[in-house]
Amino acid sequence: MHHPDRTRGIPRAVALHYSVAPAVPASAEDGVVEVVAAEALVPASVAEIEQLTGVRIRVSGVSREGYQARLAQVYGIGAAAIEEDRASPPPGEAILPPEAGVVRFVDEIIAEAVRRGATDLHLEPSVDGLRIRLRVDGLLQAVQAPHDLTAHDRRIVARIKVMAGLDSTPSTTPRDGAIRRDGRDLRISVLPTAAGEAVHVRILPQWGDFPTVEELGVSPDRGRMLRNLMRMRSGLVVACGPTGSGKSTTLHVLLRTGVPSTEKVITVEDPVEFRIPEAVQVEVSPVLTFADALRAVLRHDPDVILVGEMRDAESARIALQASLTGHLVLTSLHTDDEAQAITRLLTLGMDRPLLAAALRALISQRLVRRGCRACQGTGFSHSSQCEVCRGSGYRGRVGLFRVTMVRALVRQMIEGGSPEEEIREHMDSAGEPSLHAQARRMADEGMTTEAEIARVMGLSMP
Ligand SMILES: [Zn+2]
Repeated sequence: MHHPDRTRGIPRAVALHYSVAPAVPASAEDGVVEVVAAEALVPASVAEIEQLTGVRIRVSGVSREGYQARLAQVYGIGAAAIEEDRASPPPGEAILPPEAGVVRFVDEIIAEAVRRGATDLHLEPSVDGLRIRLRVDGLLQAVQAPHDLTAHDRRIVARIKVMAGLDSTPSTTPRDGAIRRDGRDLRISVLPTAAGEAVHVRILPQWGDFPTVEELGVSPDRGRMLRNLMRMRSGLVVACGPTGSGKSTTLHVLLRTGVPSTEKVITVEDPVEFRIPEAVQVEVSPVLTFADALRAVLRHDPDVILVGEMRDAESARIALQASLTGHLVLTSLHTDDEAQAITRLLTLGMDRPLLAAALRALISQRLVRRGCRACQGTGFSHSSQCEVCRGSGYRGRVGLFRVTMVRALVRQMIEGGSPEEEIREHMDSAGEPSLHAQARRMADEGMTTEAEIARVMGLSMP
């Protein structure tokens, strides 16, 4: 939101007209406000500004880019764009024509989301007006928007709907659409709420942006292990972890770097997240269930099948059968760890001996925010002035992985009905270090903080 202190008594209209903006820090010592100007100011203009605002100013020059950045900081992103529409009439009853200012504003917000590396853009109507937030590295951050955005709420939402190929008139039912922009796919969903329409924009990475197995940040050993997994000609591979732990990304990385072009890949997803050039992708819907889709997929001669998420008994049964008859089946499960994943598969009705025979590997993972290298160790620890991390103290995420190959002992445990806790103890003692232990080491090495580890692991570290 607009921050009155930041303007130092210089209204946005004046700032835009003279191409000036309060400097950083906007100190007002001796009653004189420091301002930056993108163009040389003649003394007459300085006098005009002082007369208009009643503020005495001292001017220093700045680049055009620096000026734009400062303008956005003080008056909000897209402030200049919204300004263009100031003189326009109030929103009409039904049809909201997208105007040049709103069009540019939406472009700027999307560009800013991409610049910050956001995965999601949220426009949330409330009694206080439209709130704009971005999800960066897994957490929401507010976008400073112009303070008089409220007058344009409905036009902004209408503009995004038009871009997504939807009818711009307010709808009483949820709507989904898509935008392809600068080679990037954006998935739009619109939800009618008590305060107006809420918009969620998912910013999908490009297929080419996916890292290779090695670039995931795994050790060379683990990288080899993962590549070997993809050379298996049958079996079930499960990625597990909570929402936002990167399961789906990992499965796509395996497909991208592990599957030779001589193999046929089919995915069944709800919805299709990333477009994979080399794969046949099926989206489930109210009229095409996971189970129906899987049955049909098996008649298309696949070598590798990705099942977005294993949710119901019937698709679990079909997937298990497929994995035992010459297909490599990759899937994800929303569980805390590998042992719980096994319990879940059994709960879905998988037969113990068949699961023991089919299960090849389990990948357990989390994403941890990495400490910002720009401001950590510079003395002013994650300062709110840091441009790189925007004062959060974190920049980018790194994955924690444990790959558990299912060998004789685990197979016996599954088949013999060992309790979950026993399987977990065995995996922790015999396999790779637990995610907790790996997280602990990351914090010790200063790559991240104790607080971040506690957040991701859902506990307080000893
Ligand atoms: Zn920083």
